[in-house]
Amino acid sequence: MSDMDSLFLRIIAREIPADVVHENDQVIAIRDINPQAPTHVLVVPKKRYRNVAELAAADPGLLAELIAVAHNIAEREGIADSGYRLLFNTNSDAGQTIFHVHLHLLGGEPLGGLTG
Ligand code: 5GP
Repeated sequence: MSDMDSLFLRIIAREIPADVVHENDQVIAIRDINPQAPTHVLVVPKKRYRNVAELAAADPGLLAELIAVAHNIAEREGIADSGYRLLFNTNSDAGQTIFHVHLHLLGGEPLGGLTG
């Protein structure tokens, strides 16, 4: 896969299957293929930015939209009140493996300390 052809762009184009939990003009949300909690959803802008810093600089409104979508999904999953974690891995030391920014929504059980 070329650097310009992220996994998420292929999922958005329906070239690769995914369990889509939400989609609008700007955002798609899919269940993580290797969930780290009972709810593990990736909230992804359709326009590609490499990481959250690039997204925040270019389009802070879209960053806010990712958070709003994640909260709405948490409400639908029934975990908004019990609690959930939002996480951006940023660059390689943090474990970012897909360089198309994505917000992890994790919840559905006690998640432990800050680093999991
Ligand atoms: P990162 O480590 O970049 O923050 O997160 C990438 C996430 O994408 C990982 O949690 C990984 O399990 C998930 N992932 C990798 N490949 C696929 C895939 O093909 N489909 C889905 N739904 N998730 C994927």
